[in-house]
Amino acid sequence: MATDEINELFQVTNYGPTNHPMQYRRDLLTGLQCRIAPNRIQRTFDVMHCPDNPDDEPPCVFCPERVHSETPLFADGKRITVGESVTFPNLYPFAQRHVVTVVTEAHRPEKITARQIEDALYGQIAALSSDDGYVSCNWNSLPSAGASMIHPHMQGSADAAPTYHAGIVIHQSEAFCQKTGMKYRDCLLDHEIGGPRHLFGDELPFFAHAVPLGEKEVRAYLPIRCIGELEPWCHLLAEGMERIISLYRGAGHYAFNMALVCDAAGRKDRGFRAFCSLIARINPCSTGMSDSAFMERMHLEPIVLTLPEEIGGLLP
Ligand SMILES: [Zn+2]
Repeated sequence: MATDEINELFQVTNYGPTNHPMQYRRDLLTGLQCRIAPNRIQRTFDVMHCPDNPDDEPPCVFCPERVHSETPLFADGKRITVGESVTFPNLYPFAQRHVVTVVTEAHRPEKITARQIEDALYGQIAALSSDDGYVSCNWNSLPSAGASMIHPHMQGSADAAPTYHAGIVIHQSEAFCQKTGMKYRDCLLDHEIGGPRHLFGDELPFFAHAVPLGEKEVRAYLPIRCIGELEPWCHLLAEGMERIISLYRGAGHYAFNMALVCDAAGRKDRGFRAFCSLIARINPCSTGMSDSAFMERMHLEPIVLTLPEEIGGLLP
């Protein structure tokens, strides 16, 4: 990947084929990062509409009658199907590898089961585990959580560098391990299990996070480092996620974000362990799409659409 602009203030790196160009930008004063994906502006975000009557909704490309014929294909000419879930490349990628997993056949299911979540996770693993990069599995549920499609879908991504938040937790977990000789996960479990924030789970504990990144943040701490090790844990993880989503619904939240943060497979084990985080979103209104989704809320790395150098050209 070529660094196209670097000085003492910031760094700009271009990536992607000409039909899907994107940039990684880093502010060298703060270390904060963003990505710019100009093609995503084509997603007609100005007409997002969630009608009260589902019959008024436009046809959905994630519904069973279209998902198998109208979504993009992997290089081998296939999509990945596990149970009800269907996984394929994202049409508007903002990562070096960016895949979508449609979770359910139902367009607007009353409830999403642990089985459906588990199968979707297997689809994400199948699409991402061969990648040596930093992987995350993510979910924006409903437009008020930043989803552009109502139909439930996860998004997996892999990149040569971690997202801003993933970079902090991975590198600080490693520094913690080097300093104390203990894995951060082990220390956290010793401290939190049986306490007021321990919701359930022993082998795979779910905790209300002590310093939440968002409303009712819950984290599940996995004993694994990278996506290739996730499969044996998908069942427990999916059961726990189903419980947390039910908790959110019971508390009046229909929208949520999820991110499962992994280390890069090609790195040495220096003590980081993967975790899955969920936050509830306030449902601000039934129409309109939030521009704050899993990248902004969970990875702390905004996806923007417009190059700063082009904003001057928009002046009236
Ligand atoms: Zn649909």
